[in-house]
Amino acid sequence: MKNSPPISYIFSSSIELTRTCHQRCAYCAFYREDAPLLAIEELLIKLDELSRKEATEVVFLSGESPQEYPYIQIELHRNGFSSFSDYLIRCCEMAIERNMMPVLSTGYIDEFTAERFANAGCVVRINLVAASLSKDGQAHQKARNRNPSTGKASIEALHKAGVPYSIGFLIGIGETEEERTRYINETGRFCTADPYLQDVRIIPFQPVSGSEMSNRPPLPYSAVEKALISAKEVFPVHHLSVPPHLFYRFPDLAPGGMNDLGSVPILTGDPTHPEYPVPSIETIKARLEKINLVLFERGTNCTPAAINRPEIAIALQKNRHDIEQRNSSGLNLIDNDHCFVCGNRNDFGLHIPMKESVKDGTCTFSWTPGPSFQGYAGIVHGGILSTLLDESMAHAVMDGGIKVVTADIRVRFHRPSPVGISLKFIATRVGQRKNLHFARASVLLPDGTLLAEAEGRFAEI
Ligand code: SF4
Repeated sequence: MKNSPPISYIFSSSIELTRTCHQRCAYCAFYREDAPLLAIEELLIKLDELSRKEATEVVFLSGESPQEYPYIQIELHRNGFSSFSDYLIRCCEMAIERNMMPVLSTGYIDEFTAERFANAGCVVRINLVAASLSKDGQAHQKARNRNPSTGKASIEALHKAGVPYSIGFLIGIGETEEERTRYINETGRFCTADPYLQDVRIIPFQPVSGSEMSNRPPLPYSAVEKALISAKEVFPVHHLSVPPHLFYRFPDLAPGGMNDLGSVPILTGDPTHPEYPVPSIETIKARLEKINLVLFERGTNCTPAAINRPEIAIALQKNRHDIEQRNSSGLNLIDNDHCFVCGNRNDFGLHIPMKESVKDGTCTFSWTPGPSFQGYAGIVHGGILSTLLDESMAHAVMDGGIKVVTADIRVRFHRPSPVGISLKFIATRVGQRKNLHFARASVLLPDGTLLAEAEGRFAEI
């Protein structure tokens, strides 16, 4: 694999707008019968957060045609919109205002809707199926119009309206190998020369719990590889990707033509496949490096017409800067809110507001450990104390506006720390030599009794 072209990806994120969907595909656990619509105020908070974390792209997800449900109509009206398309257009504007390129993954598109998106600055994502699978017991038995021709009609509508789009082949949902290969070939002949086609994804089925097909096995490696090779033949110049979180052996697909990993939702995870965690950039990079492949971040998809719009040009310029920084950084330290100590999105985390606990190079907070954190009966486990001492020192150091990783820590336990009593942690930055920062921390009882102390060295990245 020496001298192979690099594998690209987009530093992406996703936001669920609504899970309401009438299709009820048997492989999907995303849809709900009565899911709410994300209010514009909540969307604003989510977008601001993603923008702070320098996402270059945001994928807006919804079920198909949610506006068919009267309660969604009411929610649209309450938010000041007369249609779901108007709402989506506003979502796109808000993303661009925050320097993120919008992608709409909101189901099939008709001509009228495609025209509405012509000036929204977005890319529309269409997922294609190779067979209708609408018979009893098949994947689309309950779906209304999920079939190869509606996918094709969406592509035609987007092309006619001049809207950039991305296609994904959903494979392994019950189609035969022959149907799969034929559909990929037909689609290739149909749109490979279309300037509005931005990239091509192969999406292998993975069982998700809560779906009707949760017991069905995923496709074997050879079938995924074959589909990819077929796609490469008909889409020889496009970005051709397989989502790394949905196919563990993704590096092995590079010789068959995979040259991209598509939009990797590093900051948010993939709400349609919550059981499949998105690997970190460092993990992806390391797995590719093992076979001498290089990973690099690319910009999001965009047509020349969109680039000429001033607000999009500004967003892209800002993105370019962030991408260059991430590509040139030896180690990408990305806060996706899943930190065990302070991440809000970690269901098993401690949810300690570390950032808010720091002032002038000192981090101070209190925490009351419950019995789940004990080692011997009634005594807090030394490992959890070490974790908090480490984290508090790192935050004290990072108060200087830098990012660090722990080089080493030394912890001395003086007394057993009791369960069920508020423990006070204090950490202070104490010095620096070149890119190595030093800190000390201690944990105390409310009466000031010293329980444990730590010293640490932290490497600036
Ligand atoms: S896969 Fe998409 S279209 Fe099918 S039920 Fe789920 S959200 Fe709806």
